[in-house]
Amino acid sequence: MLTPHPRAWFSKRFAAQFAVSWKVLIAYAIASLLLDALSNPQTVLPLALASWTPPPGLTLAFLLLYGLHYAPLLIGVMFLIGLPMYGIPRDGLAALWGAGLLMLGLWALAIWLLRGLRIDPRLSNQRDLTWFLFIAVLAAWLDASVHVFSRSPEAAPDAWAWMADLVNFWVGALIRLLVITPLVLVHADTDWRGWREWRIWDWRITRELVLQGAAVAFALWLIFGFRYTDEFKFFYLLFLPMIWIAMRHGIHGATIALAASHVGINMILEWRGSHAITVVEFQMLMLGLAVTMLSLGMTVTVRRATEERLHQREAELNQAMRLAAAGEMAQAIAHELNQPLSAVANYARASRSMLDDPARHGALLADTLEKIDREANRAGQVMRRLREFFRGGGLRCETFTLAALIDESLSYVRRRAERQNIAFKLALDETLPSVHADRVQMGTVLHNLLANAIDALSTGGGDPREIEIGAQRQGDDLIRVCVTDNGAGVGAEMEGRLFESFATSKAEGMGLGLAISRTLVQAHGGELWLANTRPAQFCFTLPSAGTSLGRTHD
Ligand code: ADP
Repeated sequence: MLTPHPRAWFSKRFAAQFAVSWKVLIAYAIASLLLDALSNPQTVLPLALASWTPPPGLTLAFLLLYGLHYAPLLIGVMFLIGLPMYGIPRDGLAALWGAGLLMLGLWALAIWLLRGLRIDPRLSNQRDLTWFLFIAVLAAWLDASVHVFSRSPEAAPDAWAWMADLVNFWVGALIRLLVITPLVLVHADTDWRGWREWRIWDWRITRELVLQGAAVAFALWLIFGFRYTDEFKFFYLLFLPMIWIAMRHGIHGATIALAASHVGINMILEWRGSHAITVVEFQMLMLGLAVTMLSLGMTVTVRRATEERLHQREAELNQAMRLAAAGEMAQAIAHELNQPLSAVANYARASRSMLDDPARHGALLADTLEKIDREANRAGQVMRRLREFFRGGGLRCETFTLAALIDESLSYVRRRAERQNIAFKLALDETLPSVHADRVQMGTVLHNLLANAIDALSTGGGDPREIEIGAQRQGDDLIRVCVTDNGAGVGAEMEGRLFESFATSKAEGMGLGLAISRTLVQAHGGELWLANTRPAQFCFTLPSAGTSLGRTHD
């Protein structure tokens, strides 16, 4: 066996650990410029400190997400941006020294979070958030200290003024950190493509987003619109739409809403030229809002994730139970069929020997043939019982929309598909009527087809991996649903036996999914078939509401 040379191994690991992506540096530069643009140097509460100092919230987020070795590069990026925009700062060396010190501190805090406390930089649970809040307090203190210390002594004449400035700056820096860092952290992995394909054009969702934005704007108008009231008297009103957003969209929505309202309030304050006292008051309220929003958003997100996990576990269990039950049943059936079939064979053998002397055994022969008939009927009954079992002793039909059924089935498999980089595409005829069928059974059929498509794609196939679910009318009373995947397609050796029980090409497969699904669809008076082998396309029909098909039992 070949073992890599130790030095080669070391340099490979070294290179992997310190790999640098230009995309990350460019994203950092753009985000810094954006923050810089949002913070007028004259403003009372700049979002970030212009020019030479790296914005701490952004820097901390990038170190946590992309690696601690980015620290010197981020300072370099700030220098490259700062030089053409602001020229050489008056106290160049002090500015550089301050930036270096701040970066060193943030770097140490990031190490503590990642290595010491082992938090997930994407903030995936309450513990991560709590430790992040704690570290943010320290990072803000560091930020404030660096800036207040590096000022000229005339800025604050005595120790008290100096202390007050420090505390003031600290709270401001903390708010900036709480607004910027979680926003970047929780959205770092967001797949925006998914949004475009799925939801953003969905009017129900867009309407809600518009309403939420309007509610925040209305609250801001109430707070700042009435000149005759004390400025922040109505600030609590802002909590209402913000809580609504956090409850609906979890930590992702909470961070966006927080950033938007922060920018909005800053713009209003700047526009109205607020006094220092207003600013302190505002800072405290904003701090309360930020901590509330982050905690509430995280609680909602964690709860949703737990629910989804439970849901999925339940679905998997359900499926496993069904397969286990089918396996049990198959064994029992094999056992029960064995008896009548061996009896038939024995009687047939006896009849053949009786035929040697039909005159003598005439009556007995007739009797034996009748017994064969009876045993064959018994075997038929056993088979009927099997079908009854799969049907669950009759259907429990209800009326529901296909979109709801597809939504439900997708929720069971979405996680698995995401892990395999598989995207779903819907092609539904908008005018489809509702369907009238056993929802659980139809869900099982769709789930089986989707699970097979995911299995097929996870062993190779198209790029990008895609599963299309289409539905359209077929005649007056049926709806045809087709699931197509761009995997390797159905192999020639499987094509003829797809719907046979125990026909499988998978190491872990049972080969019952398609057989059971066909039985379930047929029990509704529909059909399930392979419409195309490559790309693999399976279609089934189900009755639309208002149709009563011959074989449907209510
Ligand atoms: P199982 O999934 O346990 O193998 P199924 O009855 O659901 O049982 O599927 C039977 C076989 O049909 C699979 O093993 C596979 O070879 C083939 N098959 C089903 N769906 C697809 C698909 N979308 N693409 C390719 N082959 C498929």
